[in-house]
Amino acid sequence: MAPQREWLEHDFYKDLGVASDASAEEIKKAYRKLARELHPDANPGDPEAEERFKRVSEAHSVLSDPEKRKEYDETRAMFAGGRFRGGNGFPGGFGGGGTTYTTGGADFDLGDLFGGTGGSGGIGDLFEGLFNRGGGTQRTSTASRPRRGKDLETETTLSFKDAALGTTVPLRVTSPSPCTTCHGSGAKPGTSPRVCPRCNGSGFVSRNQGAFGFSEPCQDCQGTGSRIDDPCTDCSGTGVKVRARTINVRIPAGVEDGQRIRLAGQGEAGRRGAPSGDLYVVVHVTPHKYFTRSGNDLRVTLPVRFSELVLGATVSVPTLDGSVGVKIPPHTTDGRTLRVRGRGVPKRSGGAGDLLVTLKVAVPDKLDEAALEAMRAYDKAERESGFDPRADWGR
Ligand SMILES: [Zn+2]
Ligand SMILES: [Zn+2]
Repeated sequence: MAPQREWLEHDFYKDLGVASDASAEEIKKAYRKLARELHPDANPGDPEAEERFKRVSEAHSVLSDPEKRKEYDETRAMFAGGRFRGGNGFPGGFGGGGTTYTTGGADFDLGDLFGGTGGSGGIGDLFEGLFNRGGGTQRTSTASRPRRGKDLETETTLSFKDAALGTTVPLRVTSPSPCTTCHGSGAKPGTSPRVCPRCNGSGFVSRNQGAFGFSEPCQDCQGTGSRIDDPCTDCSGTGVKVRARTINVRIPAGVEDGQRIRLAGQGEAGRRGAPSGDLYVVVHVTPHKYFTRSGNDLRVTLPVRFSELVLGATVSVPTLDGSVGVKIPPHTTDGRTLRVRGRGVPKRSGGAGDLLVTLKVAVPDKLDEAALEAMRAYDKAERESGFDPRADWGR
């Protein structure tokens, strides 16, 4: 059933150290800071940090999802207002007898609502809900059936070269994962869940309440449609355990900074064998000392001698995986960009972008007397040859 007992036992806002009206940004910031501090990798063998890490992760997973956060807030508000049957303490366990009416995942107690003790909600809301929402069957099915696990997001930082050429990185993810003992079924090894006899596996049962017919989550199987007689002791029958796992993620060639890679089925495990969510990996790319990218083209600025531009030369230019000889034609202008086809970043469609080499004259900051002497002789000869770089100026 949707509102978990944990929702009432834990103050997620307190776990994250934020106010209950904190903005999404504040929640994200607080989570990032705590997750870094408490991460199992940073606190090896510290069960207290591990426990807090789990709590913080759970708090974040609920509060970062606007829909879930609303649900959580409403559930807690209702409980604080004493609208659950039982008043103080826990209401005899969710789904432990009595009638629940499910709206958007939060459980209301029908008895309380009809009895008129339920503050602002009131019977008007209930009627509205009934008539606007169609059949009871549809209403309860999504909230009470085993759900697909949540999507997860993590990040990784790659070198410029690894991002351009592709690589495989091991990613450590701590999240609810299929229990290895029961392989996610929730049933003790050697046994298996059976179809719930009360609801015939549908997860809900019909019931008449005055003039209305309701479908309500089956109490015998908590709306899952199956019964586990012998729960797996490792995961208490949920089929899910929080653990750290390492996933080898293949990063395709050509990924760019900020890109998200989706790994289907690598997110949180669903309860009792429901499908897992997806894992999204946000890629950060560190800048390169020489190279930059524009799409699949690779850019580099190459320092050259003035004499190389005038006389022409073949120079060696670094590439991502080695070097390439580039021919500079005689009388090449400073700042000119030469294109070397196919030596850029590999394309997903095959082939590769180009290497764009921009030439830039390096002026020596000191020269020995012989070189200076030659430079003066060159200067003289150049003037005598009639070359004037500013010939067109000032006219
Ligand atoms: Zn298990
Ligand atoms: Zn059932």
